[in-house]
Amino acid sequence: MARKVIEKLDCDGCLKKEGKEVDAVMKLIIGPDEYHLCGPHGEKFRALLAEALGTTTDTALSA
Ligand SMILES: [Zn+2]
Repeated sequence: MARKVIEKLDCDGCLKKEGKEVDAVMKLIIGPDEYHLCGPHGEKFRALLAEALGTTTDTALSA
């Protein structure tokens, strides 16, 4: 009997800040640290990193 295991990850940002379990849709790895993030949190970190590194993304930094 085959069993399919589906790994479900929660957004670290939502879980730590609001105590909510929100499905993570992206992963951020910096050295030994690994974070799983939902859409909004992922985009937020992408924008922050892009700004810090002086790179541009296709994501609009809307306020
Ligand atoms: Zn989140």
